[in-house]
Amino acid sequence: MNRKSFFVAVTGLTALACAPLFTHNPYYIHMIGTIMIYAILLFGLDIVVGYTGQVSLGHAGLFGVGSYTAGVLFIKLGAPLWVIIPASVAVTAGFGALLALPALRVSGPYLAMVTLAFGTIVQILINEMDFLTEGPLGIKIPKPSLAGMQLNENGFYWLVFALMVLSLVVADRILRSQIGRAFEALRGSPVASDCMGVSVYQYKVFAFVISAGYAGLAGCLYAYSEQYISPNTYNFELTVLFLLAVIMGGRKTRTGALLGAAIIVILPKLLDDLELFRIVASTLAVLMAIGAGVGIARKLTTPKAMAVPVLGTMALAGFSFWLQSITDWRLSIFGLMILFVVYYLQDGIVGFVRNLFARKGGATDNHAFRTIDRSKDAIMVASNTGHIEAGHDLLTAKGVLMQFGGLKAINQVDLHVKRGTIHGLIGPNGSGKSTMMNVLTGIYVPTAGSIEFAGRSVVGRTSSDIALSGIARTFQNVQLFGEMTALQNIQVGLHHTFGSSILDVSLHTPRYRREEEASVERGLGLINFVGLTGLANEEARNLPYGKQRLLEIARALALDPQLLLLDEPAAGLTAPDIKELVTIIRKIRDHGITVILIEHHMDVVMSICDSVSVLDFGQKIAEGKPAEVQADEKVIEAYLGGTAA
Ligand code: ADP
Ligand code: MG
Repeated sequence: MNRKSFFVAVTGLTALACAPLFTHNPYYIHMIGTIMIYAILLFGLDIVVGYTGQVSLGHAGLFGVGSYTAGVLFIKLGAPLWVIIPASVAVTAGFGALLALPALRVSGPYLAMVTLAFGTIVQILINEMDFLTEGPLGIKIPKPSLAGMQLNENGFYWLVFALMVLSLVVADRILRSQIGRAFEALRGSPVASDCMGVSVYQYKVFAFVISAGYAGLAGCLYAYSEQYISPNTYNFELTVLFLLAVIMGGRKTRTGALLGAAIIVILPKLLDDLELFRIVASTLAVLMAIGAGVGIARKLTTPKAMAVPVLGTMALAGFSFWLQSITDWRLSIFGLMILFVVYYLQDGIVGFVRNLFARKGGATDNHAFRTIDRSKDAIMVASNTGHIEAGHDLLTAKGVLMQFGGLKAINQVDLHVKRGTIHGLIGPNGSGKSTMMNVLTGIYVPTAGSIEFAGRSVVGRTSSDIALSGIARTFQNVQLFGEMTALQNIQVGLHHTFGSSILDVSLHTPRYRREEEASVERGLGLINFVGLTGLANEEARNLPYGKQRLLEIARALALDPQLLLLDEPAAGLTAPDIKELVTIIRKIRDHGITVILIEHHMDVVMSICDSVSVLDFGQKIAEGKPAEVQADEKVIEAYLGGTAA
């Protein structure tokens, strides 16, 4: 966070803390308190929705679990606040795990359905288990006492404020750490995450559990805030509201969560009052028309692009006057708002404002690291450089068969790769080269055959486990984490160098700081190594294609691999870039890393490979020194004479 945004944040929070001093109306104090409670939940929901990119329709249920843990502990045991708060967080996090473990095996619409079912079941259970929850009657809880003092409305407000700030700081720290990077990475490219040793499933569950903990804290505070809880609060409409808040406020921002919370607290009040709704809808239509007019006049937008939003808001205003009663239409209006946001405000309000400023302010400060010492032009490989036992097989594959239905993409292939060499894997398109890499990295489990790497079998192990044991790779279709910077991409590769826990991260312990600093230093070293100096803070998706390929290699090297698999690294590169690439691959081998290289550029293969295997229709048709292979008649027929130009 830079100094300016830190200043804005502190000012904003101070204003929030002082709110009770400016108004003595308990209605407003309660309303702002509720906004802060929802914001706590949204910090957590954003971790799941914004960072990992999963959909949860179960957060109203989790919120309910938090509230009822507080309620039940209070009426059954008379437990004090300092017991109830951690208990609510822990119990809800437990429910989160219970939901996540099976649910996150599926994704997309299935996950939405499972979480929705969870929410519904929680509501039914609260209703039916009246021996514990008092059923539909609900539970009354007075405001808590703290250190022997009964908190009044203002005292409770400040308690909520303090916990909201604490939640914000902790969420922010988690999300900026290696844990947060893992969350973002699995959204950016699950397959690349796994192949960088960051288990997608594990981190999805982790995100869900943290998020549930936040929902638990929010639910607990909500119970005290309302002083009465009953099952029908925690319904489907609330779940939709939470999602709406995250999307409207903007993904991946804490300001957005607060803004979203404010919208969903104020919006239902708006939709309860028909008169007010009419005024707001008409104002919105007028503002929209003026905004569109100005935008078109200044050529910032086109009449065509503005037609739907302008007509839409006008229709909404007209509709508001036609309505007799608003209650039946609430969900439809929420639905319309979600559609509007999805089409026109994809980055939410905060993202929209940020984009405006970004366009005005020009480039961000990505030259911060440009001064880095280029003499540190080493890979900084830690462990496996010293003891190269050249000559021994690092990888041995025997009789590998990979069948997709009737197609044998790889058919009884043997592969021996010697330590410290560059081994070429060539063949026409569709001959099974990429499939071989996918088999070696655990993305596919071979139908038959054995694969041994550094004395251990690879078959049946997870991609992240294989990656951590020393096989790193790049992808034929570049698989970067697009929304993350170049440096962060590499830091995901360095995930294995972190031993600090979520507690270290939240408290910023010396251990975490040391690890984070080391990862930045090594990351920058790797960026220099592949010649991307000065681009550390550029988002990966904004890099030119050739540089993306180089970044992918740097990220793979971050894993400290013994074996590096490169799938067509020169594809799409210009001639000078290819020369640079060849130098880099040689340097990698000189550091003691064994390389398997899939490549269509014959000159590259011939100049740097120590040995070459040729695949055709899934079968190995030749193997040997590059010159021998090049002269082989079968190869010329299948490959050089065929597709290669
Ligand atoms: P190469 O990388 O040599 O161009 P691939 O390994 O990508 O070739 O593909 C080899 C064959 O396997 C192709 O016919 C391709 O269509 C098929 N194939 C690859 N992956 C799958 C899959 N997941 N399902 C079905 N067929 C696949
Ligand atoms: Mg391929």
